[in-house]
Amino acid sequence: MESIWSKTCEIQKRLSLDSDIEVDAAVIGGGMAGILTAYQLECAGVRTAVLEAGRIGGGQTKNTTAKITSQHGIFCHDFIQKKGRDAAGQYVRANQAAVEEYKRIIQKEGIDCDLEEKDSYVYSQDEKKLKEEAEAAAELGVEASFEPCAKIPVPCAGAVKFARQAQFHPLKFICALSENLTIYEDTAVKEVEEHTVKTVCGSVQADKIVFATHFPFINFPGMYFTRMHQERSYVLALENAGMINGMYIGDGKDALSFRQFDRYLLFGGEGHRTGEKKEGEKYEGGSYERLRAAARELYPKSRETACWSAQDCVTADKVPFIGRYASDRPDWFVATGFQKWGMTSSMVSAMIIRDMICGSENPWAEAFSPSRFSAEEIPQIMKDSGKAVKGLTKRFFHIPDESAARLAPGHGAVVETEYGKAGVYKTEDQKIYKVDIVCPHLGCELAWNPDEKTWDCPCHGSRFDYKGNLLEGPAQEGIHYE
Ligand SMILES: Cc1cc2nc3c(=O)[nH]c(=O)nc-3n(C[C@H](O)[C@H](O)[C@H](O)COP(=O)(O)OP(=O)(O)OC[C@H]3O[C@@H](n4cnc5c(N)ncnc54)[C@H](O)[C@@H]3O)c2cc1C
Repeated sequence: MESIWSKTCEIQKRLSLDSDIEVDAAVIGGGMAGILTAYQLECAGVRTAVLEAGRIGGGQTKNTTAKITSQHGIFCHDFIQKKGRDAAGQYVRANQAAVEEYKRIIQKEGIDCDLEEKDSYVYSQDEKKLKEEAEAAAELGVEASFEPCAKIPVPCAGAVKFARQAQFHPLKFICALSENLTIYEDTAVKEVEEHTVKTVCGSVQADKIVFATHFPFINFPGMYFTRMHQERSYVLALENAGMINGMYIGDGKDALSFRQFDRYLLFGGEGHRTGEKKEGEKYEGGSYERLRAAARELYPKSRETACWSAQDCVTADKVPFIGRYASDRPDWFVATGFQKWGMTSSMVSAMIIRDMICGSENPWAEAFSPSRFSAEEIPQIMKDSGKAVKGLTKRFFHIPDESAARLAPGHGAVVETEYGKAGVYKTEDQKIYKVDIVCPHLGCELAWNPDEKTWDCPCHGSRFDYKGNLLEGPAQEGIHYE
């Protein structure tokens, strides 16, 4: 399951760290957020090194749909109601500035990354909601309008348009932008103490440290694990589905996403909380099967060329955490909680963190500050904590419903063994892989994900392949059966 981006761009491999070094700033994580932050810091004269556990762009960034837009669903109207016009204005202006900053950098550096200016649309069946949103967005200074007719084959009462947004090839962009940056790949960070970053192959002394690891892996201070969960969604690249001119997303939990890349329609959807099944759906089967059924219905003549999935962190108030990691760590910074809008959010992070490190005022920093707190976040935090507690409790009380012998080939399940519970996967040729089902991050019970044949954590979204190798954090190590 390789994304269309990975299939069409190979980034040259970088060496691992092989000695102790000193820099002004260490950026942990080489996804879109880390690379942009390092680029902005270097441009401001800050000597920066990126430490990447695997390959740059190899995390969620390689599996995005790469719409660069300040239109993050239908949010302006709600945002103004909940947080006020000032905070809403900061949020929208920051993201709109991010769209313009991409265009500026791509032009300045002469980057060939299939950048195209496109209008962005959110469609819905609810005309009143669309009109309210268009008005609210316009009030905040966006070039927004209500369009009675959305040019996609789904029933809707129209769409809200944000004019002059953009789309691109994210890996071609990262590949070019990273050329002159100091980057160490296969250099997983294991520990951070004040100004020392300890990796598997050397340590880095840095005045400032930026955590751009998608989900922050240091639990204390910060406690980001109590403030975010992760959600997955799925994408198909379809040939012969016609051409659409614009980027579309639906409103609500069954939202579908559409954008063109070359001759492919990138068709996305089936979002759900990581580690949980989506229940009561229109179509049968797993997430990919359901998305394929929707594609067949909307584009009966189309052919699938690629399929992939990704996940992102969601905060209680749907605003990323960008800024100081914690009040007692003034030189640590964090960029996370992008809620599937990480292209502009990564650029917003890079600009805010650059300004904080360089001691410049940033007009949007307050809206994204990780130290913000509002009472209306409590119900969501309680709900998220409830899920985490359920994940922990399940580990001790869940009754296994399968045994290894009864498992069908190609299936996985939690089974009772003579030594206790284990996760078991049986390959098509009957080989059995056993793993520990306790998540090494904070001890929740992992759930089997039949779509991707992985073990996923319902609490914080860590994922492991069926052999137990770590796929994504916040966990920092694999799961192995003792
Ligand atoms: C299906 C889907 C579609 C999306 N489409 C869009 C879209 O159209 N537009 C948009 O704006 N957003 C979109 N997003 C969101 C966007 O893709 C993400 O928010 C963004 O890619 C996240 O970038 P990142 O740099 O934060 O994380 P990542 O790309 O995951 O990078 C984090 C990096 O940190 C590294 N790392 C982790 N731990 C360590 C460690 N201990 N030491 C060293 N390195 C470490 C990882 O290896 C990884 O490379 C989408 C998300 C999904 C799920």
